[in-house]
Amino acid sequence: MMRTTGTEEMKITGLSDKILYLSSLLNNLSMLNELQNRARMIRDRYYGNIITYSRKLFLPLTNICINSCLYCNFGKRPHEAGAFIMSPRSALEIVEKYERKFRIKEILICTGERPDAYREVKDKLKEWGYRSYVEYLVDILDKIVRKTTYAIPHVNVGYLEKEEIEAIRPFVASLGLMIEVVSYTLMRNGPHKYSPTKAPHYRIKFLVNCNKLRTPVTTGTIVGICENVLDRARTLIVLAKLCDLLDAIQEIIVQPYVPGESSSRRCICCLTPTLEELSLLVSLYRIYVPIKVSIQSPPNLINNIIRIVESGINDLGGISPVTPDYINISYPWPKISYIRRLLREHGYMLRERLPVYPRFVKEYKIWLSDIIRDKVLPIVDDQGLVDPKYEGED
Ligand code: SF4
Repeated sequence: MMRTTGTEEMKITGLSDKILYLSSLLNNLSMLNELQNRARMIRDRYYGNIITYSRKLFLPLTNICINSCLYCNFGKRPHEAGAFIMSPRSALEIVEKYERKFRIKEILICTGERPDAYREVKDKLKEWGYRSYVEYLVDILDKIVRKTTYAIPHVNVGYLEKEEIEAIRPFVASLGLMIEVVSYTLMRNGPHKYSPTKAPHYRIKFLVNCNKLRTPVTTGTIVGICENVLDRARTLIVLAKLCDLLDAIQEIIVQPYVPGESSSRRCICCLTPTLEELSLLVSLYRIYVPIKVSIQSPPNLINNIIRIVESGINDLGGISPVTPDYINISYPWPKISYIRRLLREHGYMLRERLPVYPRFVKEYKIWLSDIIRDKVLPIVDDQGLVDPKYEGED
């Protein structure tokens, strides 16, 4: 059950009419069919019957993280069993081994935040010749883009300052940073209590800086991490507004919380949303977020792909034919051929996209560095999607 809220909290927090209206919709599952139909109509007008995904290799350079989000299935402190940081050499070996063989187009670099806040990591980086984690990252990214045929990095390493984004930008197709939930209650007394960089103002500042630096960026929400219905409504409104204001936002992920089998952390108020709750929220995102911004849900974390597609998403995010989802290791991605068949049976067509969306590919002079542009332009069709002759399968 989602936490509900009383009128006192509404008064104290001074919530706007729009938040109250949206939370009333989120509480009313009898609206689901109507909202799904509306969301689908909006999606179909712009994206037609095409559902996209990105063919990726997941490269988790390190799971060491300054934060301790209570629902996390991935992050570790340096002394915890299973904590690691890859040497640049082993990272590049993985890329070289799989990139061509599996026709990979996206190298997803997703890591813990600020690992060099720890002395152990700092010392290791120094031994390899780096003064900071960002310096290590930039060097690996530089080497990756020089080695790969077509694959380009999408980087999600947590909050970064503007000058750090600037240093990384030449080597990436796009960046990622989830807003998760716009709520300071979760910071004070919830699963973000020990996660300083999860404060909403940091996440917003990051997105604003990506926009200033003309760097395409993905963001989104996690559903079921102890937020109440007003938090969900507020997050939706903030994200929709940011998409209005910031051209750099390419995609909103609506991702359900799922419990991990191996995590030592315990979040007692986290709860996976029901399919109906998730569908309703996805539909509202499609209705409220500008149509140029994709709505995505990860197919390994939802138990009914078609129901979520029918709720208005147009993208299934990154799917790897070779590496697991290290963030949610107990949840394997479905085979690409299975998704293709399933979608076809329901009148949709699966197409491969790059980790940068067609809108930005078309405006590459503004959004892409020369190195990235040279990898992107030879393999896209006139829609900005991967030309079918370069697509891969399972
Ligand atoms: S969810 Fe991300 S930021 Fe939070 S502990 Fe895990 S890796 Fe760190």
